[in-house]
Amino acid sequence: MKNESGWKNKSKEKIEHIFAFCEEYKTFLNRAKTEREAVTCIKEYLIQHGFKEETHAHKVFRINRGKEVIAFSRGNLSPEEGFNIIVAHIDAPRLDLKQSPLYEDVGLAMLRTHYYGGIKKYQWVAIPLALHGVIVRADGTSIHIAVGEGSDEPVFVIDDLLPHLSRKVQDEKKLSEAIEGEKLTLLFGSMPLADEEKEAVKKYILQVLNEKYTIVEDDFISAEIEIVPAFKARDVGIDRSMIGAYGQDDRACAFTLLKALCDTNNQQHPCIAIFTDKEEVGSEGNTGLKSNFFQIFLYDILTGMNMKNDEAFMRKILFLSRALSADVNGAFNPTFQDVHEKQNACYLGRGVCISKFTGHGGKVGASDAHAEYVGEIRRLLNKEGVIWQTGELGKIDEGGGGTVAKFHAIYGMDIIDCGTPLLTMHSPFEVSSKLDIYETYRAFKAFLNS
Ligand code: MN
Ligand code: MN
Repeated sequence: MKNESGWKNKSKEKIEHIFAFCEEYKTFLNRAKTEREAVTCIKEYLIQHGFKEETHAHKVFRINRGKEVIAFSRGNLSPEEGFNIIVAHIDAPRLDLKQSPLYEDVGLAMLRTHYYGGIKKYQWVAIPLALHGVIVRADGTSIHIAVGEGSDEPVFVIDDLLPHLSRKVQDEKKLSEAIEGEKLTLLFGSMPLADEEKEAVKKYILQVLNEKYTIVEDDFISAEIEIVPAFKARDVGIDRSMIGAYGQDDRACAFTLLKALCDTNNQQHPCIAIFTDKEEVGSEGNTGLKSNFFQIFLYDILTGMNMKNDEAFMRKILFLSRALSADVNGAFNPTFQDVHEKQNACYLGRGVCISKFTGHGGKVGASDAHAEYVGEIRRLLNKEGVIWQTGELGKIDEGGGGTVAKFHAIYGMDIIDCGTPLLTMHSPFEVSSKLDIYETYRAFKAFLNS
């Protein structure tokens, strides 16, 4: 195996092409900061590329409750020969507003949050934050909001303690306990309503919200508001070889999957691309991969092809299918090298990463791809000249993690983890290599075409 930078194999023209590809990726990252926004972007792109919601179409897509998308593209072969399936997720670690979030204390209006997914809480204080989501009013009407993205819009912030006073309450504690979940409260306003004695600031905030969005305090009960970093995707490094942005886990794979699917035509096997929600909380819930949406979609597309669609038939097709669990991996960290095992880690700039297994401890909770299937993927990537590497997530017993692979392995299909290496993964500003983003796209395209 060649353990070297993938950039070495790229001509000046190719590098320009990769950089241009990543400009589009950055736009996607800026527009799709929540799963709902990702669905909007994905839907728009699919429609532009001939996908339709009609069951009988050759290219079909379906949306589940505005948070999950599945797209299907017919191949030259019948579904009876199995599908080529790629699954990426479009949810990302973040803070959600609580259902009764607003309160006033010491003359400041604050919003209470509940964090979603695996975050390091200390990373979310003292940075500019934006508010994205949907609010459903008492009469059933709803409004989508996004505040904090435009340069003229206000942002929000979670207060942190000044170092002069943090010695006892923070500095002497464990890092994981220095900022408690309940202390992740958002600074939301500070101006009082005139001639008001009690909770004047809160009342003024409610007046502003009502004027701007026609909502009242109780409407937060039926709202999903996500707090995400307010900053935009940026080039990182003096050579501009990397991208820093929020939500690259797993939009690195969602974007490249979307591009690969739309650039794939006349392929042998029918293809399915799944952009799922709730991966960061175990794929639970009716928009997560454990829900029945996938089976119902399959039922529909088989009906659309005038094929048999009973349970036994669908199970057999899935058993014969091949899949990629398209998810990012933690790249070798230059500063904290001890958590990795050098020989089996993945590295930034060395291409898309294949992980035979995930899990923790003794491969607990893992989906472990068969050697034969790994061999098949290896031959495919080599044949197409994709720059790739293998990597496991950290040293044994250092921690670990899982992906959606195991949920599709239940159907009996072959599945392997394949995605982009990231630095500062799960932080508000994750870093990827432009080369790895592009090679992820090439790997997905090669797979869909195989
Ligand atoms: Mn992920
Ligand atoms: Mn993740």
